[in-house]
Amino acid sequence: MDTKFLQELGLHTENAGTSTGQNSMDSGQYIESYSPVDGKLIGKVSQTTREEYEQVMATAQEAFKTWRMMPAPARGEVVRQYGLKLREHKDALGRLVSYEMGKSLQEGWGEVQEMIDICDFAVGQSRQLYGLTMHSERPSHRMYEQYHPLGIVGIISAFNFPVAVWSWNSMIALICGDVTVWKASEKSPLCSVACQNLLRDVLKENNVPEGVSCIINGDYKVGEFMTKDHRVPLISATGSTRMGKIVAAEVGSRLGKTILELGGNNAIIVTPSADTNVVLTGALFGAVGTAGQRCTSTRRLIVHESLFDEVKEKMTKAYGQLRIGNPLDENNHVGPLIDKDAVQNYLNAIETVQKEGGKLLVEGGVLEGPGYESGCYVKPCIVEAEHDYKTVHTETFAPILYLIRYKDMDEAIAYHNEVPQGLSSAIMTNNLREAERFLSHAGSDCGIANVNIGTSGAEIGGAFGGEKETGGGRESGSDAWKAYMRRQTNTINYSTEVPLAQGIKFDL
Ligand code: NAD
Repeated sequence: MDTKFLQELGLHTENAGTSTGQNSMDSGQYIESYSPVDGKLIGKVSQTTREEYEQVMATAQEAFKTWRMMPAPARGEVVRQYGLKLREHKDALGRLVSYEMGKSLQEGWGEVQEMIDICDFAVGQSRQLYGLTMHSERPSHRMYEQYHPLGIVGIISAFNFPVAVWSWNSMIALICGDVTVWKASEKSPLCSVACQNLLRDVLKENNVPEGVSCIINGDYKVGEFMTKDHRVPLISATGSTRMGKIVAAEVGSRLGKTILELGGNNAIIVTPSADTNVVLTGALFGAVGTAGQRCTSTRRLIVHESLFDEVKEKMTKAYGQLRIGNPLDENNHVGPLIDKDAVQNYLNAIETVQKEGGKLLVEGGVLEGPGYESGCYVKPCIVEAEHDYKTVHTETFAPILYLIRYKDMDEAIAYHNEVPQGLSSAIMTNNLREAERFLSHAGSDCGIANVNIGTSGAEIGGAFGGEKETGGGRESGSDAWKAYMRRQTNTINYSTEVPLAQGIKFDL
C-alpha cells in the first residue's frame, strides 16, 4: 500500500491527539489506528488527558472572546480559505478516509467534496445570519431579534463519516462566531488530526486566535469530559442511539443544548408503478454502499406483492455481480466493515433473523484468503423477512437488506413507520397520489423523505437529520445554523413615555 498521502497530511507514526490550533499536546498514551483494509497499523494518536482537556477549554474560552467580535463575513473568509486548502489536498484526505475507515476511494473523495461544499455554503451563510423585525404594540418602540454565538461547541463524531460530519458542524459553528472542540471516533482518530493539520496553517495565516478550532482524542470517557462540562453550551453528537440517549441525559441534566444525529433504519417503498431500473440502482447503492455503514443505508425494501418476485430476482442477480475487496481499488464495489466487532454484529443479526423465520436470498459470510487478511470483509446479503421481526426493527451497521412484502398503501406506510428510528426514507412510484401521500403529514415520519431516489446520501443544502430515536437534530444546510446560536429579542423605546403592560400606571 502506497501511503505517501500520510506525509502530505502531516501524519507520523505517533501523533499528538490534542490540539488548540497552532499548539499540540502529546500525552504519551496512544490509541492505535488499524486499517480495516489490510489490517495494518496506520499510526497512533495520543489520548487527551484531563489536564490537557482543561488547557484546551481555557484556550477555547479565551479564543471565543476574540472570535465572536470578528465580523461574521470575516469569519466566513477564513472558512473560504479552508475550503481552498481542502481542494488542494482532496486526493490525500480522501485516501486517508478510505484507508482508515474502509469506504471506497470514490466515497472518500466524496466526503472531502462535502467538506468543500459546506465551506462554500458557510461562506454565503456568514452574510445571512438573519433575524426578524416585528412591529411593536407599543408606540415609538422597535422590536427585532438577533442571533448571538453560543460559545464552545463540542462535536462528538462517529467513525463512518470521519471528516464530513465535523465539517458540517464546525464550518457552520465557526461562521456563527462559536469556537469548536472536536472529539472524533476512537476508530478513526487520524482523520481528525489530518483535518486539524490542514486547518492550522489557514488559522495562522489569518491571525486567528489559538483555540478557535480544537481537537481532543480518546474513547467515550474523553467525550464525557465535554458532555458533563457546563462550559460547553452545545454538544452536537453523531453516533448510535445508545450513545445519544446517554449524551442527551447527561447534557439535559445541566440544561445544555444538544444536536443529536443517531441511528437510522431506512426503508424504500416500491409501489406497483415503480420503474424497476430506478429501484435497482437506488436500492443497491443504498444497501451496499460504504458496506452498509451509512446512517442513511437502505435496510428495508418494502415491495408491493405484484412486483415482489421481479424485484427479488433482479436484486439477487445484481448482488451476484458485486466485487468485494480493497476499497482503494476502483474496480471493487464493497469494502470492509470497520472492525471485527462489527463483523460479529453482522453475523449475529443474520443468525437471529433466521431464527425469527427470515429466509436468506443471498447468503452472507466472512471472506477469507488473499486480500481479506484484515478479517473485516463480509458478503452483502438479502433476507426475505416479515415487517415486524425484532432484527428488522434494529439497526445493524452492516450490509444486510430485508425484503418485505406489502398489499396496500396503508400497510406499506404502517410498516415503514413502525420502527423506532426515523432518519431517511424513499418511495419508488410514478403515481402522483402515492408520492404525495408518502410526503404528506400522514406519510413518512422521517427527517428525510425522497421520491424516486434512494435513502442514502444527502445534499449539504438541506437540513440533515431525523426524528424519533434518530434524535431530532438538524445539521448542515437550510436554517440548521440557528441551533449554533442563541436568539435574543430586543425592544427599543425611542419616546419619552414608558407604556407599561396591561395598562398599569404609577403616579410618579
Ligand atoms: P458510537 O455511538 O459507538 O460512537 C460515536 C461517538 O460517540 C464516538 O466518538 C464515541 O467515542 C462517542 N461516545 C460513545 N459513548 C459516549 C458517551 N457516553 N459520552 C460521550 N461520547 C460517547 O457510534 P459509531 O459506531 O461510531 O457510529 C455508528 C452509528 O452512528 C450508527 O448508529 C449510525 O447510524 C450513526 N450515525 C448517525 C448519523 C446521523 O447523521 N444520523 C451519521 C453517522 C453515523
